[in-house]
Amino acid sequence: MRAIFLDRDGTLNLEPTDEIVASADQVILHTNVIEGLQILAGLDYKIFILTNQIGIAQKRITEEQFQAVNQKVLELIAPSGVQIIKTYFCPHQPADNCDCRKPKTGMIKQLLAENLDIDVSNSWVIGDRLSDVGLAQAIGSRMILVNMAGKYIEDTAEFVAHDLLDAAQIIQNEG
Ligand SMILES: [Mg+2]
Ligand SMILES: [Zn+2]
Repeated sequence: MRAIFLDRDGTLNLEPTDEIVASADQVILHTNVIEGLQILAGLDYKIFILTNQIGIAQKRITEEQFQAVNQKVLELIAPSGVQIIKTYFCPHQPADNCDCRKPKTGMIKQLLAENLDIDVSNSWVIGDRLSDVGLAQAIGSRMILVNMAGKYIEDTAEFVAHDLLDAAQIIQNEG
């Protein structure tokens, strides 16, 4: 079974300039996210969210606030028909030296232990940061950098998409 490892902030929903989405009423989906997810819902992938949440380590949000925001994201994307199997999150900061903060692979290792049928090399990471590119390289999966803000040069990832609709079309075309 192939999987899609979706980043959350900056990929599904807008990421504020201070990087912290603190409450459910601050959650705004990016354009074309529902349309992109609708395509992915029609393809044969297990879909997961994997998100770094440094704000928890920095005590700028609580884990409860994170969960409330995540629930709101899930509610807003539900009309797409995509089923998110599970959301994995890293609550640490770099100084914690954890093994789960992307590009480290701890979240994927947990996911694979809980989903024994995943074919990683034919699965996709979709994210908006170099930490997402690094994760894909570390696990040997395919990768689409969703580069809405034009932050990164275009040769850092296997594919660069303008938005999630563009990303979904790439996956559809790649079969
Ligand atoms: Mg992101
Ligand atoms: Zn961590």
